[in-house]
Amino acid sequence: MFFYNSTYLLFMVPAFLLMMLTSWYVKSAYNKWSKVPSSSRLTGAQAAQRLISSSALYGVKIESVGGNLSDHYDPRTKTLRLSQGVANNASVAAVAVAAHELGHAMQDAEDYMPLRLRAALVPAVNIGSWLGWILIMVGLFLNALNLAWLGVLVFSGGALFALATLPVELNASSRAKQLLADTGIIQSEQERRGVNNVLNAAALTYVASLVTAILQLLYFVSLIGGRRR
Ligand SMILES: [Zn+2]
Repeated sequence: MFFYNSTYLLFMVPAFLLMMLTSWYVKSAYNKWSKVPSSSRLTGAQAAQRLISSSALYGVKIESVGGNLSDHYDPRTKTLRLSQGVANNASVAAVAVAAHELGHAMQDAEDYMPLRLRAALVPAVNIGSWLGWILIMVGLFLNALNLAWLGVLVFSGGALFALATLPVELNASSRAKQLLADTGIIQSEQERRGVNNVLNAAALTYVASLVTAILQLLYFVSLIGGRRR
């Protein structure tokens, strides 16, 4: 098939390695700082509860969720879902992740524009990811390059989404760092380094997703651009 050629490997092998590397890095940072207790002795769930009160985010609930590093904030139900490792662990990594998710709850409460923009892109991305493929494949098969280019345009929603994700995630992390310091949940320089390490590693995975989406797009561009009518 045309998408399993050497050009594909040229674009997607670096992307794959980058995703592997960043995912390994985020896990190792998380594991390292999961073993370091936070000086406040608060678990992730307790830290989140304290931050909910201190930020006056009444109405935000905390629930637990299965899996590892599956923590997220659900704006539809105003719920902070924390994994067992974060909710029940009084470590630097646990409070860092809990505070990051709370950062998303704050964004939601403030109607933070980039968060709304990202949410608005979701339906377009869901449709674009399969419709883009189909248009590109049919366009190439029929040698209808305009159709293929339209497919690239539709498919580029994924890269746009990855781009829109960056400010949302970086902002949630910077809120988390500030909140943890302001409320005294973390105090020492070592804890500050730990929180930065965990949250910056997580941010790198979003950069890797963006790079992957761009490489995928560039692959299609090179594929269609290389065709003769
Ligand atoms: Zn996040």
